[in-house]
Amino acid sequence: MNLHELLFSLCRDLTLVVDVQSLKIITASPGCYSLFGYPILEGQSIEELECALSDAFYWEDVRAGLLRPLENVEGLYRCQDGEIISVEKSILPMQYDDQSVLAIQLKRTDSEKTNNLALESTLALLKATLESTADGILVTDLNNGIINFNRRFAEFWSLSEQLLLQGDDAAVYRTMLRRFRRRQTGREFIVSARDAREQETFMLLELKQQRWLECRSRPQIVGEQIQGRVYTFADISARMLAEEQLQEAMKRADAANKAKTDFLNHMSHELRTPLNAILGFAQLMQEEGCSPHEEKVDLMLKGAWHLLGLINEVLDLARVESGHIDLQPTTVHVLGIIKECSAFVRPMAEARHIQLDDFCDSISVQVLADPRRLRQMLLNLLSNAIKYNRPQGKVWLSVHVEENTVHIDVHDSGMGISNSDQERLFQNFNRVGQTQNIEGTGIGLAFSRKLAQLMQGNITVTSQLGEGSCFRLSLPQALTANDATNAERATPTTAPGVLHILYVDDDATNRLIVKSSLKKQQNTRIETAESGTEALQRLPMATFDLLIVDMNLEDMTGIDLLKQLPSADLPGAPVRFMLSASDNPEVRAQAKAVGVRRYLTKPLNIKEFIEAIEEIRHHPH
Ligand code: ADP
Repeated sequence: MNLHELLFSLCRDLTLVVDVQSLKIITASPGCYSLFGYPILEGQSIEELECALSDAFYWEDVRAGLLRPLENVEGLYRCQDGEIISVEKSILPMQYDDQSVLAIQLKRTDSEKTNNLALESTLALLKATLESTADGILVTDLNNGIINFNRRFAEFWSLSEQLLLQGDDAAVYRTMLRRFRRRQTGREFIVSARDAREQETFMLLELKQQRWLECRSRPQIVGEQIQGRVYTFADISARMLAEEQLQEAMKRADAANKAKTDFLNHMSHELRTPLNAILGFAQLMQEEGCSPHEEKVDLMLKGAWHLLGLINEVLDLARVESGHIDLQPTTVHVLGIIKECSAFVRPMAEARHIQLDDFCDSISVQVLADPRRLRQMLLNLLSNAIKYNRPQGKVWLSVHVEENTVHIDVHDSGMGISNSDQERLFQNFNRVGQTQNIEGTGIGLAFSRKLAQLMQGNITVTSQLGEGSCFRLSLPQALTANDATNAERATPTTAPGVLHILYVDDDATNRLIVKSSLKKQQNTRIETAESGTEALQRLPMATFDLLIVDMNLEDMTGIDLLKQLPSADLPGAPVRFMLSASDNPEVRAQAKAVGVRRYLTKPLNIKEFIEAIEEIRHHPH
């Protein structure tokens, strides 16, 4: 020990020397050991001993290179046993052996002050925590007396500092009440929270100026006693506004959708009605043989059917896009529907010298689909395969099942589609490749894919330019048979007799078309009624096998007329058909509900109409 060390060891002062770089204690006088109680102080960080906020700031500065002397400032030291003692300290920056050090001289101050300081420090910490939360906080005693709150709380309720400093709790509550959009809600809030006792509460509070607060309250429990309540408030105005806007937008979208549907139904009706007369009379003229105008009538009919097809396609597309399409998925035999559709397009294939091979492995696969729409999709794929083929080309089908999905592949040896065009085919009105001389609108595939997707399936394409394409219709497999939906269902037949029909329509053109179309049908007697009232009078006077009702009668709707009749299920009740210019799914459903067996749309397809009548003759029940 040299002389310096000897002197230092005898020194009664509390002195610590700290390295500026590491902030570690280099040496400490013996008094420090007995005061703080640590067995070793050398090597300890000074920041572990000093614990006042101002101390922390000082050492932060030192770390940043700012060496300041301090004289007689207050500070706190943590002893080894956890006790905090207060000191008065001076710090002097010095050089020792080329090393920058800080010499700290301490003096202990009285212990009461230490306690006060510690308490102050705890309270400051609590206050800082209260203020740093994003929520507004209010603490009350059991009588709703305000014990504590934070600045956020005052902000949320727009409570002035002056009001809060008055210490008049009733005035604070009155001001809070004034902020509510409805005072009654405010009163309920104050009462319900007060009466909740050990319960937790949650309320949404609507304030003036479109402001919303979410309030939760809990009992404040000290020891095992409820001392009061703690309320937390969160400002959720932005969220509520966004929700309100979303609901508004949804309402507007619903209204727009309804307007669109109404427009579609109206258009459908308006466009089909005049076509009904054109197609009806042209078909009759064709049947009656109208030389020398046969060719012209043929062309007229072709044009009119084409126009009807276009109208239907556009309306269908609009319906499927607005989600207003009525799908009734049932179990459908794939093979049956393939045979049916290929029989339908065979004349088209033959006319173009295209070989159509509808042979599929005769597995009895069934899919879950709306039969009418499945037919429509398959016909679209088959007719495309024929239309976009080459002369003497081929069209063939294959079916296979993969993980409960049935894939129906329509292959063709046609011109093929480039990779870049393959996705574009499924967009509305897009036609690709050499389509100038081929009839089409570019709607079919877009519509069919949307339909397939609505039935939990899809339509995809693979193609090789110049070699051909394969369009795949995938649909969920139906695992149980539902024979009732099958086209080949068997119902007992009765011997054909005279079929007695009553047709109700207020439109003379329609009455003429229907009557004329049945002229050549043997064993068929048709009577007409011009209004719902007339039909109601005539029905009990004779036995009719079939009642055909127009949807829009002048004095009532066809549905209303049918509702007034005895149930369609009663023995001897006539079979019900409905004829309508509108193909509205809602009306179809209503018609079904009043016992309509066939819903026929105008313009009337006479061939289909006669087939439907013949079916009734053979299967009346
Ligand atoms: P449309 O046949 O009325 O034009 P679609 O929507 O059915 O409308 O088909 C869209 C387009 O896809 C067609 O115009 C045609 O360019 C192309 N396409 C469809 N099927 C085939 C096919 N099998 N081979 C080649 N191109 C096809």
